[in-house]
Amino acid sequence: MTHLTVANEQLTFRRFTDGEDRWSDLQEAIFQAGWSHKCPTYVHRAPPCQASCPSGHDIRGWLDIVRGVDKPPAGMSVQEYAFHKMTMSNPFPAVMGRVCPAPCEDGCNRNEVEDHVGINSIEHYIGNWALENKVGFPKPAQETGKKIAVIGGGPAGLSAAYQLRKMGHAVTIYDEHAELGGMMRYGIPGYRTPRDVLDGEIKRIIDMGVDAKMKCRVGKDVQLADLEKNNDAIFWAIGTHSGRGLPVPGADAPNCISGVAFLRAFNQGRLKFVTGRIIVVGGGDTSIDVASVARRLGHITQVHEKDRVEHVVLGQTAHDVASAAKREGADVTLTSLFPVEKMFAAEREVEDAKREGVDIQGGIMPLEVLKGPDGRARALKMCKCTMDGMTPIPQAGTEFEIECDLIVSAIGQKGDMEGLEAMDNGKGFINADKHFKVPGKDKHFVGGDIVRPHLLTTAIGHGWIASESINTFLKGEEFGKRPKVDVHHFNLIDVLRNMGREPEKFVTTEGERGTSSANFAIHNYEDRSTKEVVPADELFLGHFSYTKRNKREEVHISADQVIGNFDERLKTLTDAQAAAEAKRCMSCGLCFECDNCLVFCPQTAVSRSPKAERGLGRYVETDYAKCIGCHICTDVCPTGYIQMGLGE
Ligand SMILES: Cc1cc2nc3c(=O)[nH]c(=O)nc-3n(C[C@H](O)[C@H](O)[C@H](O)COP(=O)(O)OP(=O)(O)OC[C@H]3O[C@@H](n4cnc5c(N)ncnc54)[C@H](O)[C@@H]3O)c2cc1C
Ligand code: SF4
Ligand code: SF4
Repeated sequence: MTHLTVANEQLTFRRFTDGEDRWSDLQEAIFQAGWSHKCPTYVHRAPPCQASCPSGHDIRGWLDIVRGVDKPPAGMSVQEYAFHKMTMSNPFPAVMGRVCPAPCEDGCNRNEVEDHVGINSIEHYIGNWALENKVGFPKPAQETGKKIAVIGGGPAGLSAAYQLRKMGHAVTIYDEHAELGGMMRYGIPGYRTPRDVLDGEIKRIIDMGVDAKMKCRVGKDVQLADLEKNNDAIFWAIGTHSGRGLPVPGADAPNCISGVAFLRAFNQGRLKFVTGRIIVVGGGDTSIDVASVARRLGHITQVHEKDRVEHVVLGQTAHDVASAAKREGADVTLTSLFPVEKMFAAEREVEDAKREGVDIQGGIMPLEVLKGPDGRARALKMCKCTMDGMTPIPQAGTEFEIECDLIVSAIGQKGDMEGLEAMDNGKGFINADKHFKVPGKDKHFVGGDIVRPHLLTTAIGHGWIASESINTFLKGEEFGKRPKVDVHHFNLIDVLRNMGREPEKFVTTEGERGTSSANFAIHNYEDRSTKEVVPADELFLGHFSYTKRNKREEVHISADQVIGNFDERLKTLTDAQAAAEAKRCMSCGLCFECDNCLVFCPQTAVSRSPKAERGLGRYVETDYAKCIGCHICTDVCPTGYIQMGLGE
């Protein structure tokens, strides 16, 4: 289910399906339960939202805080506590909350009730709150004396720098641009990632004591050999800044440019308007941004050869006198190989682009760039196509032409490896193993788009895992295996430690066996979160009544209002909306203190733990002398946290 899908108006949960009206084997089940000797145990598993977030957010953890189940320490606000939990994995909540397409929401179990939890909007709310309240990150308590060079100051590089600095390592970022942020600044336009928001989230990382050398291209201004000599490890996060041209004849025309070059020129303030009709070929995020920016810039009737967009984009000239000319709505067509509803761009962005006047045509492929007598592209020849996986199959007899003044290719990117040939895998990318180490290259680690172009959250996740690998490498230890569910998990030991109730180290004398009163382990508890994700059908969904999602307000801009409109389109949730939305979370895989088990146990075997011993995940205890193994508590546990296990 996606952002724009209308939620069901009725509950989708049913304990029984039509026709299931006979109590066939219940009697046997009840009797078996009576002598099964099985008793409830508490089993923590990962929720699917977390497993679907590439940066590995402990989503359930921060929703538990916003909804009031996990209370902040004395003197700290709910928002600040949630912010610190969020930024364990991702230091950019305000950016993510605006532009992450939120795969976590597609994975959310609440989709099986009526609609996903608005995870992304709560991230947005907390991110904004932290910026408004100037919450920063603490400096590391100790310096390790190790030095790491991070090449590229986009999300992957900044994420690694943040995590490594937390560990006490000295980090220097090298970036060829004037400012940090990578594609968050030079790709995505400011009405999606407002620059004050971006600056605020980057400054927090720099304030931890991270050094940044700007306008410094590695391979040109600094040589790799010097970095190797002067650092204990190197993290490559150079992204993919070289746009792919159209794979058709005539694509070498001067007015065929790449989407990343177009957006870089706009974001650097050089490109102020477009001239003539534009065709953007793509279907992903970059193509939508190009088309939407072109609509905002507007078109002027061309005044001078040097004002043509391609000259400005390629840095050969800058718009001057023509800036004052009156703008009209730019004529922008976006074409995609896939049908519009299957395009890769986020659905919300596609809908906005259509509303803002972009003509989006799906299921068509370019065949040839048709040039005029001056050698410039005058039209793009296209035809209808179907898709066989990722390969377009042209439909004969459907050819047509679209006239244009500019063709923008936004069909993918690769790394700009000039001066870095030693790292190139031959395809414009850098190879990585599971630990984000560059195979065969001691000291070298890599992450983000230069490994595999995807999303901001993915690049940030790579930065985190690579930082752990670098730390392991610096300590001279073996890498070991990464867990199957590789995210930031809830840890009951931490909860117990904070309460001064951490299990003791296991010591026993010969012949002695563990007893139920020994404190060597957490009793009746198993942590399967690194291996298992709890599916919706293991929850008691009947506990959750239909509750509409609290949606953020969105500003919709019509086609005739779009020129010159660079305002943000997403508003943040209010305090009350954020808390109400967090309450919709079903806390999949972990107790959220609903009391169902103690209310429904026919033996009164379940009771709340004494207050001083209660913590998240340790809320109730079972008297096993009273328990008859009837499994009612398991059946009514909304979160799937109780499993009948003991006594098997
Ligand atoms: C137009 C566009 C829109 C997008 N929209 C979204 C979106 O809405 N949501 C989403 O999740 N993702 C989106 N993405 C994808 C996202 O931006 C990328 O996945 C992400 O930025 C990759 O991060 P990175 O750190 O690997 O690389 P980048 O962000 O590209 O950063 C790489 C950095 O390395 C620097 N660099 C490169 N070579 C060198 C060198 N030799 N020496 C020094 N510095 C160097 C660059 O200057 C740059 O700052 C979009 C991408 C584009 C292009
Ligand atoms: S970063 Fe994206 S996927 Fe992860 S929690 Fe935020 S919105 Fe969801
Ligand atoms: S209901 Fe809550 S814990 Fe479960 S998948 Fe959705 S957001 Fe995650």
